[in-house]
Amino acid sequence: ATPTALLVGTGRGAQLGILIKGPEVLETTRRVDTIVLDKTGTVTTGRMTLLAVRTAGATREDEVLRLAGALEHASEHPIARAVATGAAAAVGPLPTPEDFAALPGLGVQGVVDGHAVLVGREKLLTEWAMELPEELKDAKDQAEKAGRTVIAVAWDGEARALIEVADAVKETSAEAVRRLRRLGLTPILLTGDNHAVAASVAAEVGIDEVVAEVMPQDKADVVKRLQAEGRSVAMVGDGVNDAAALAQADLGLAMGTGTDAAIEAGDLTLVRGDLRAAADAIRLSRRTLSTIR
Ligand code: ADP
Ligand code: MG
Repeated sequence: ATPTALLVGTGRGAQLGILIKGPEVLETTRRVDTIVLDKTGTVTTGRMTLLAVRTAGATREDEVLRLAGALEHASEHPIARAVATGAAAAVGPLPTPEDFAALPGLGVQGVVDGHAVLVGREKLLTEWAMELPEELKDAKDQAEKAGRTVIAVAWDGEARALIEVADAVKETSAEAVRRLRRLGLTPILLTGDNHAVAASVAAEVGIDEVVAEVMPQDKADVVKRLQAEGRSVAMVGDGVNDAAALAQADLGLAMGTGTDAAIEAGDLTLVRGDLRAAADAIRLSRRTLSTIR
């Protein structure tokens, strides 16, 4: 192997918006046959917007927005940003919560205006022995089938409302998936989000295999399981939640638009956050190595 060819390869990588940690990465890149794609922030933009609030019983929409918005204002999660921004626009300045806690992969909890408030996925309510009222269950199913992420709002021991948010699939994601397939890779969508939402995004970009409702700490195990089947696995992600899976993967590709934790864990950074660069990286590595040999 000539070091010059490697340098040319990685120099071209930089032009394409791909940063490679070291020349040894090229060899792994050539071998991968499976590519696991995180959903939020990787396949989708991760910039969510608040679309609707559905309340049960006598609960008022403005109360829901005030309490949920106040809690989510303290969280960095893309869902939280959508809720806090939408709530502030609708009801004005939000109170500061007490005893705030973020529960990774589940939601947030805290005390707002003297109420103990929970905002997050249905599983979070179940853990507190609460259940969604019947009238909200149907609404939740329908919104999820339409690809929206639905979170529940509960306070003082009762589930009272749903908030629907959605983010858009990146314009380049479907083309990226087509290119990855053409390179012989099997794409798999991996997310902590609900099955129905995941299926909707997968269909939109042309992915057949989906692993959904995975807790952040379990994402690396999904990669391990695929490796145990004898696959050579690339993983693309952007979040703190993806760092362990990126490190576990044979090849970790981090979105340059994502968190530092993901970038540090990856072997390769897609500087512009464009998934097509993942296909470019694999094509480039194969070409660079065949030049050397
Ligand atoms: P992803 O794998 O798609 O990046 P996460 O693991 O971050 O998703 O979150 C999984 C699910 O947990 C979300 O779809 C949401 O239902 C819930 N969740 C996590 N954090 C929050 C939050 N701050 N507010 C509301 N819901 C949340
Ligand atoms: Mg993500």
